[in-house]
Amino acid sequence: MSSNIQIPKTCQNCGKVFTAKTTVTKFCSHRCASQNYKKRKREEKIQEVAPIVVQQVQFNQEQLKDKEFLSIKEACFLIGASRMTLFRQIKQGTIQVAKLGRRTIIKRSEIEKLFES
Ligand SMILES: [Zn+2]
Repeated sequence: MSSNIQIPKTCQNCGKVFTAKTTVTKFCSHRCASQNYKKRKREEKIQEVAPIVVQQVQFNQEQLKDKEFLSIKEACFLIGASRMTLFRQIKQGTIQVAKLGRRTIIKRSEIEKLFES
């Protein structure tokens, strides 16, 4: 095999046309190769977790629509606050909660109360 072969190729990362020395080269530079590698790794990771996330969101939205009582988790989701924020409001008495064994239950109207005043 000749070492002087020149193959015009399009970089799979930046789309630049470059001259490859081997038929297997896919990138114009080492930088593009590693960038693409990282991107691929990231996409693999996203694909792994994405279906779970989507399922959870759909589950919550469906469930919360006409729920009278919410768990801490559901209340967080509903108002888009973190657990820390919610717990702080509970501690301050802004949100009244009920304890059911080890579970904390929040009445939906307690959340809605936050928006009236
Ligand atoms: Zn490139």
